[in-house]
Amino acid sequence: MGLPSVAVPSAPAGGVSRWSAMVLDGPGRRLRQVWHDEPPLPAAGQVRVRVSACGVCRTDLHLADGDLPFPPHPVVPGHEIVGHVAALGAGVTGLVIGQRVGVPWLGWTCGECEPCRVGRENLCAQARFTGWQLDGGFAEQVLADARYVFPLPPGYDDVQAAPLMCAGLIGWRAYVAAGPDARRIGLYGFGAAAHLIAQVGVHQGREVHAFTRPGDLAAQALARRLGVAWTGGSDQMPAAPLDAAVLFAPVGALVPQALRAVRPGGMVVCAGIHMSDIPGFPYAWLWGERRIVSVAHLTRRDGEAFLRVAAEQPLQVQVHTYPLAEANQALDDLRAGRFTGAAVLRC
Ligand SMILES: [Zn+2]
Ligand SMILES: [Zn+2]
Repeated sequence: MGLPSVAVPSAPAGGVSRWSAMVLDGPGRRLRQVWHDEPPLPAAGQVRVRVSACGVCRTDLHLADGDLPFPPHPVVPGHEIVGHVAALGAGVTGLVIGQRVGVPWLGWTCGECEPCRVGRENLCAQARFTGWQLDGGFAEQVLADARYVFPLPPGYDDVQAAPLMCAGLIGWRAYVAAGPDARRIGLYGFGAAAHLIAQVGVHQGREVHAFTRPGDLAAQALARRLGVAWTGGSDQMPAAPLDAAVLFAPVGALVPQALRAVRPGGMVVCAGIHMSDIPGFPYAWLWGERRIVSVAHLTRRDGEAFLRVAAEQPLQVQVHTYPLAEANQALDDLRAGRFTGAAVLRC
């Protein structure tokens, strides 16, 4: 159960009412609600965002469960942030007070290393990530580097827009990595990312196959409603070989399974930040110029490209909402697979 919410005293004139954040002290711990009296002050180049919604991503779960290195300090998770700009730090241009924005996982890069200079800022060794090294959006207020903040397309309310910020963006990067020639594409793990990217694939004329947890009929029904060509369990083989498979499920055993489902020359794209170990498999399953690749994080260019797609093609976003104070319950439900689509906190 989440922590009980606390009555909020009214704000002093011109000020901000008390606000809270859900703080993670370490791996394996429960989030605890922390209250503040003063809004955080944006440093030069930063904005303060009054958060209205924040998606709950599997990466938040990996952080809470100790699958990722934990930062040397407590952290507020959450990197699918939607809110409104509430304060501008010195030198910020291009954003205005009141503007609706999204804050993604990539929160800061050095801008000077080789990957940064060649457009691969997702691989910057010094990169900092929202809700990991930087406090994120399981909170009513968040600070963000203004250069990594996206204006959001109309047509999505704040709750619907939240999953676009990671499930959408990183799903998009993985989908693009599968290549323009991947006409028959399989999505393994039909959660927040796959349910968005499946719609993009269908819209772009691809034959999308949705592989869910065996027996997850709710996810399969959602996939069919969204127009995919085929649904089945991840232990099933498609009727015809796939050109590419994208793995959103953090299950290493699916890598050889997906390899067997792709044609010679086909590709398996691993989209998650963490995956259980990949079991050994016969070389023959890889042979035939099949490839296994991973995608890591996102670039700002991915964000701009995907948000253009989302603006042009209205995506149906299936959300399961929780109050901010019930973030622990949202993580538990995500871990247990208790909902279809994306979990979103109302902040
Ligand atoms: Zn994420
Ligand atoms: Zn860099």
